[in-house]
Amino acid sequence: MSERMFGRIALIGIGLIGSSLARVIAREKLAGEVVISSRSAETLDEAAALNLGDRYEQDAAEAVKDADLVIVSVPVGASGAVARQIAPALKKGAIVTDVGSTKRSVIAQMAPELPAHVHFIAGHPLAGTEKSGPSAGFASLFEDRWCILTPQDGVDPAAIERLSAFWEACGSRTELMDPVHHDQVLALVSHVPHLIAYNIVGTADELENVTEREVIKYSASGFRDFTRLAASDPTMWRDVCLHNRDAILEMLSRFSEDLTALRKAVRRGDGEALFDLFTRTRSVRRSIIEAGQDVDVADFGRSAAGGREIGEAAK
Ligand code: NAP
Repeated sequence: MSERMFGRIALIGIGLIGSSLARVIAREKLAGEVVISSRSAETLDEAAALNLGDRYEQDAAEAVKDADLVIVSVPVGASGAVARQIAPALKKGAIVTDVGSTKRSVIAQMAPELPAHVHFIAGHPLAGTEKSGPSAGFASLFEDRWCILTPQDGVDPAAIERLSAFWEACGSRTELMDPVHHDQVLALVSHVPHLIAYNIVGTADELENVTEREVIKYSASGFRDFTRLAASDPTMWRDVCLHNRDAILEMLSRFSEDLTALRKAVRRGDGEALFDLFTRTRSVRRSIIEAGQDVDVADFGRSAAGGREIGEAAK
């Protein structure tokens, strides 16, 4: 896709996701002009030093003026305040979207703030890493990843089509989903796995009879894979937990029940139950690889110096 899809795109928030968007928009020439906004001068300066946009505005309302597409990429807890700030300056007919990891809460926060003359379509690219800030982004982040759009009833289908085409030009596959369903699915595939990782790394941190040196020295036995998830941005994940509380609590209950059953199997020495579970879970891993959502490379981080991390979790 080499035609300019949008005259002006405004990126509100220029961290990992916003800056990855800036890079792919530039690479694919998707906009005539890219205006970047971040609340702090430090982040804005970093974005400017990286040459991520054509113009830089600390005031988000200034940045969205005359923009045809506005993408809000801030922690989900801040999306309502951002919508309130930009609302009076939005151009008639503009598409306004976001990239937040929870959808029901973002829609509840943003939709009432936005004027009826814009097309608001909430969205979530299932692509990310544990890094933050403008320097952490890269143009290929969205390649072969899903972007879920959760439009409300009555949104102009042409606007949905335009936004889908934008994400496809960024390399993603798109799907429409009900926001409540989105939040349930993401609780299972992303939010609870992150909580498990935060929990196990926290447990290790507090163990008294295993030294920190041992945890680090022997981490490649499994623990290391959790530490990448547990290094994810604290603000983002605090907000995800606060804004997808119901679905996360429901999935955590299911998880606890299954963990109790697993604990029982270990305590009873029930080898058959353990073997059955581990066989079923192994086939889930195979399906993920077959679906192109990870690659079957077990290099245990040995190639990490050479390239990008692969197989980032959906966030
Ligand atoms: P990030 O790298 O930490 O960048 C956050 C951006 O939001 C920065 O520009 C920051 O501005 C701004 N910001 C932070 N707090 C704000 C507030 N209270 N009000 C206004 N602006 C604020 O974050 P990110 O990883 O790009 O995540 C952005 C969004 O993408 C989140 O909603 C997250 O749920 C979603 N998401 C993340 C991932 C992932 O893997 N990271 C994946 C998919 C979706 P300053 O630096 O100037 O303060």
